[in-house]
Amino acid sequence: MGLIELIRKYSTLGPRYTSYPTAPQWTDHVSESHYREQLHHKFADPSDELALYVHIPFCEQLCYYCGCNIQITKDHSRSTQYVNALLREIETTATLLGPRRTLSQLSWGGGTPTFLTVAEIEKLQKGITQYFKLTSDAEVSIEIDPRVTSEEQLCALREFGFNRASLGVQDFNEAVQKAVNRIQSAAMTETMLQKCHSLGFSGVNFDLIYGLPLQNLETFSATVDEVIRIRPDRIALYNYAHLPSLRPHQKILEQMPMPQAEERVEIFTLAYEKLLSAGYRSIGMDHFALQTDEMYASLLDGRLYRNFMGYTVKKGAALLGIGASAIGESSDSYFQNIREAKSYEEMIAQKGLATLRGCQLTQDDLERKWTIQSLMCQFKLDSRQFEDHFQKKFSEKFTWELTQLDGFFQEGILEGNTQFMRVTDLGRLFVRNVAMIFDAYLRQGNHKATYSKTV
Ligand code: SF4
Repeated sequence: MGLIELIRKYSTLGPRYTSYPTAPQWTDHVSESHYREQLHHKFADPSDELALYVHIPFCEQLCYYCGCNIQITKDHSRSTQYVNALLREIETTATLLGPRRTLSQLSWGGGTPTFLTVAEIEKLQKGITQYFKLTSDAEVSIEIDPRVTSEEQLCALREFGFNRASLGVQDFNEAVQKAVNRIQSAAMTETMLQKCHSLGFSGVNFDLIYGLPLQNLETFSATVDEVIRIRPDRIALYNYAHLPSLRPHQKILEQMPMPQAEERVEIFTLAYEKLLSAGYRSIGMDHFALQTDEMYASLLDGRLYRNFMGYTVKKGAALLGIGASAIGESSDSYFQNIREAKSYEEMIAQKGLATLRGCQLTQDDLERKWTIQSLMCQFKLDSRQFEDHFQKKFSEKFTWELTQLDGFFQEGILEGNTQFMRVTDLGRLFVRNVAMIFDAYLRQGNHKATYSKTV
């Protein structure tokens, strides 16, 4: 079967597996007091390095495709109180964790983190490093919107220790940009990338989205050519998730023609082939990196890891989520903060933490999480490693699942056998489909409306 037929066959709704169990399974039974208890007693081994994510929800203008937790405002005084709430949450979290902990990964996302002024960026970063120590090789990343980020902000970020940047791009076609309400020229993006590189940021990423209104094979091909010419270190190529029931503002896009399933498959295939011929390597599903980039090296030597921030080269045992809607992950639980910024500030003022919901993993969840993580990051599944880890026979645990993999072996997505399997280079595109076989909740058959297309 050719690439395009495989993509046709396996393009279905499915989780991205930044967590297992996935978010639709989480409940409000996991509360702020549960999180407090975990931070205090068993969030992670005191010697473990941690990862920390900070969410800044503000944006000046709405991009109609946006699926993030955001608050649109041009009122920059809005961030003053929010930054104070972040600092309070950081203080509460660090105090509960005990002696000053070490971070190997720190990431600011949004929204638009550079909505903050230089003074606010400094205040927040100083607050974080007052309570947490960054390892000398820590990955310190930030999402950058080239339309609103000044040179002064970029220089300050570098000075405060940021060394990775991810730039929102999506599409360079003017008509598409107009349709989605995000005007950002290729020249502006290129200048920002050059500034990032000259300041010493590495692993600089571009986010692209296919499936947007007015896109077609020809327009997106031109966008990919332009991206290849500008040459970021990494590219994330996402399939647009149109979920107007969850994001009502996306409904506006229905007034324009959007590429349908078959055309999306062709667009993705074209982009995939172009990126590979231009020297990028597929990292897994929707991520690409230059062969010279650390992310590609980490794929080869098994250091690649995945959490809510996407693929990372730092294996963090536990993730702390700070800010509205931020997600934290301990060895056996997930925690998510309240979504809305004002409610977040109020809850932090009252309690110091703002957990709204989460998930406590069962033994079955832990075994499946390990399995899915191994497929998604190491692109292999070794029954002996599973058995050493869980003291349980792999073939007995996954009797049904192992009977479902024949097609993947025959189609060259997997190689090896049911006791030791590898996801092939081609198979990395379909790794979510393989992981879905091991997802017990999908077999109960629900929540598909909240997932995006796997390919
Ligand atoms: S800038 Fe990013 S987070 Fe803000 S509205 Fe646009 S897509 Fe959403």
